[in-house]
Amino acid sequence: MNIMFSPTNGTAEISRAALREVLSQMQHPFGAGDAVGVKLHWGELGNHSYLPPVYAREIVKWLHDLGARPFIFDTTVLYSGGRRRAEDSLRTAAEHGYTREFLGCDVVIADGLDGREVVDIPCDLKHFKTVQVASVIDSAQGFVIFSHFKGHLGTGFGGAIKNISMGFASRAQKQRMHADASPVLLKRRCTRCRICVDVCPTGAAQMSGDEYPEYDLETCIGCAQCIAMCPVMALKVFFSSEADVFQEKVVETAAAVWKRISGRTVLVNALIKISADCDCLPGEQEIIAPDVGFVGGYHPVDIDAESIRRMGEEPLTRTNPHIPWQRQFSYAGEIGF
Ligand code: SF4
Ligand code: SF4
Repeated sequence: MNIMFSPTNGTAEISRAALREVLSQMQHPFGAGDAVGVKLHWGELGNHSYLPPVYAREIVKWLHDLGARPFIFDTTVLYSGGRRRAEDSLRTAAEHGYTREFLGCDVVIADGLDGREVVDIPCDLKHFKTVQVASVIDSAQGFVIFSHFKGHLGTGFGGAIKNISMGFASRAQKQRMHADASPVLLKRRCTRCRICVDVCPTGAAQMSGDEYPEYDLETCIGCAQCIAMCPVMALKVFFSSEADVFQEKVVETAAAVWKRISGRTVLVNALIKISADCDCLPGEQEIIAPDVGFVGGYHPVDIDAESIRRMGEEPLTRTNPHIPWQRQFSYAGEIGF
């Protein structure tokens, strides 16, 4: 295992220096003129815990200094909000400071303006025989996977594995991974505010009059937007199959992507602003651990394992006690990822 680590005391200046230190130690595969995609998450509209663009700018500068041609990218998502359609997502990116002017490179949606620039890649695993991902996987010469390490209500934690899995996946592949998840209502908490109905992208969440909301599992795509947006946490994730299945599907997609991009990819996890949940959620997120620093490496499973070791497991198990996130590591081992 070849891992780099540089600590921070939580100040922005030291954090930037820590990232530069990790990059300076990286044995990168990039050649002069290579188009190198920096995969990151610029945060949902209204989210406050996303990584500010100063860190991406450090990576872009590092790549420029190597002679590469960097670009920043993300993909379209399933749920309503500021990133479902490409033009909305780019507007959200700009609102969060991810602009060409600030970063010094293009900011793109890697599955195309209509979400249809995708390719199917084989994997022949238990849940998926193929996975569908953004076509950037074949058009770029290399990648930097830059992941904001934090908690997550579906996967327990979000780091490099999730960033190359959900992050590269087409909307259809995202849906295939989420297909077993649906909301279940805790009536005693529900205030009947209708927010879950308003944010549901498929009309699966419905309310008539003053009744409690209901969720049509035939049309539910498992995007968890309602669960995330409920202001009183009256909705929980219910997995129609074992909760392990979702972990395994995320790992299978990541493994298929990794098979295609390993050898031309390096990874950095940012263990700062470690929030309880994903940057996909609007609003204020609880910070569950103090800033730790930056972890760099050459394999997503190694770098995520090292990130958890550095941060400690307690914040994850405290925040999402019923999510079997450990299954990601055991299943990765079983499928040779
Ligand atoms: S968002 Fe939450 S509180 Fe509001 S109606 Fe839906 S379940 Fe009930
Ligand atoms: S009901 Fe299903 S589709 Fe609608 S927001 Fe909730 S998880 Fe997403």
